[in-house]
Amino acid sequence: MVSPSTKLYGLIGYPLGHSISFYIHNAAFRALSIDALYINIPIEPESFSKAILGIKYLPIYGLNVTIPHKERIIDFLDEISVISKLIGAVNTVYLEENKWKGENTDFGGFLETLKELKLDKDLPCLILGAGGAARAVVYAVIEYGFKEIYLTNRTYGRAERIAEEVKKNKNIEIKIIPWQERHKVDEKLILINTTSIGLDGKSTPWNGNFKSIAFVYDIIYNPKETPLLSLAKENNVPFKNGLDMLIYQACLSWNKWFGFIGPFEIMKREAEKLL
Ligand code: NDP
Repeated sequence: MVSPSTKLYGLIGYPLGHSISFYIHNAAFRALSIDALYINIPIEPESFSKAILGIKYLPIYGLNVTIPHKERIIDFLDEISVISKLIGAVNTVYLEENKWKGENTDFGGFLETLKELKLDKDLPCLILGAGGAARAVVYAVIEYGFKEIYLTNRTYGRAERIAEEVKKNKNIEIKIIPWQERHKVDEKLILINTTSIGLDGKSTPWNGNFKSIAFVYDIIYNPKETPLLSLAKENNVPFKNGLDMLIYQACLSWNKWFGFIGPFEIMKREAEKLL
């Protein structure tokens, strides 16, 4: 539905070709007869400051933020949530009391799925990757209650930085494993992939055996079944992809924009048509 009073929402990032947010949010607006439109707003990194200042003066009521702007947006906001500060990234921007505020709903989205899965908190979890998404995942596994957390990343220093921050902010010890040694961990554990390995549908971040793996979670959602998840399936290990995390983060953005959580099933149905 588009009318003279239609309210604009949108996604800023660059490039945006891969995103399904446009489709899932607009499908939900239509289903709930909300007079709003969600648009893609590609902003090249060089134009970011000028564009974002301009956006603040336009009748836009809320934004999602994706790569590569999730960190930079923080400097342009009046306030961000405690968890966004810890993670160092914002993916949802909303207007409240005439102030532009920021939230990180990747954290809440991932956490929601952990609660649904009811994964065993007493097992250690091994997180592959230390990029932007990993930061939200690390704080979510802590919030969920995992007591033992291992982190491994190709660039060791990035993992080290996350571990140092977590120690400082939460007084929790994360054990770092060098990337080349990740397969040596032989305790029973939950494996979580936050790297982009597998996006191509060919590569896998895990070549070790699956005997000691209790569950595999790959936060990639396209392809729906990454090579890592196919391997889990072949080895009879239960697994999950990143689609529900993505849908929950979208639903939680609605909570900031409209004061209620977005319709999960409607958005998921729309996403499944596309993937
Ligand atoms: P980043 O670019 O910030 O991080 C990429 C990560 O992948 C880094 O840890 C990087 O290691 C690692 N990596 C990339 N290529 C290789 C390689 N060839 N070998 C070893 N490690 C590699 O991306 P994000 O963290 O934002 O996103 C990561 C993934 O998570 C993406 O696939 C994205 O689709 C998915 N995602 C899913 C979401 C969902 O809602 N389901 C939400 C957000 C992201 P290094 O530090 O060494 O470069």
